[in-house]
Amino acid sequence: MPKAAYQPAKFSPIARRRSLYTVRLWSVRHAKSLEMVYTALSAVFLKLHPFWEFVGYKRAEKPVMIAEKIVKSFLFDCRMCGQCALSDTGMSCPMNCPKSLRNGPCGGVRPNGNCEVEPDMPCVWVEAWEGSQTMKSSENILRVQPPVDHSLKGTSSWLRVTSDEAAKNSAAVGEIK
Ligand code: SF4
Repeated sequence: MPKAAYQPAKFSPIARRRSLYTVRLWSVRHAKSLEMVYTALSAVFLKLHPFWEFVGYKRAEKPVMIAEKIVKSFLFDCRMCGQCALSDTGMSCPMNCPKSLRNGPCGGVRPNGNCEVEPDMPCVWVEAWEGSQTMKSSENILRVQPPVDHSLKGTSSWLRVTSDEAAKNSAAVGEIK
């Protein structure tokens, strides 16, 4: 029997489960645009470094962390590991890998590109590669990610990156002087 053009919504249980990953997959497809947003946002955060210092990074942590969690949970299914790798991993969050692999896929990726553990879920590393190749910083995916520091879980990656960058900039200024 020929396949009908019309398929009722939720016709397939697999399609229904795949809908759980819809936003996450959209983010990977739009990695290039999100990279631009991320670059602009990190520049704004860095400009605000004197303000964060004035308020106190510790005091700013909670509200910034809540905002970060809302945005990134929606777009990337972020698990708030506190050491974000999205800009290196094609906007595909590696913490969604059931094995929490931070440096590429395991050997169990299925022929259709899905996960060995969760057969309905596209492998986050297959997605990461595809997303990264659309990004300006496409080489970043080759960087070796350090092991996850679980003591940072639930903290703001945005503030951490900002304060690290600010420290690097002031060290560079100190060297020039
Ligand atoms: S790498 Fe960490 S901070 Fe970045 S989206 Fe994934 S869980 Fe969130």
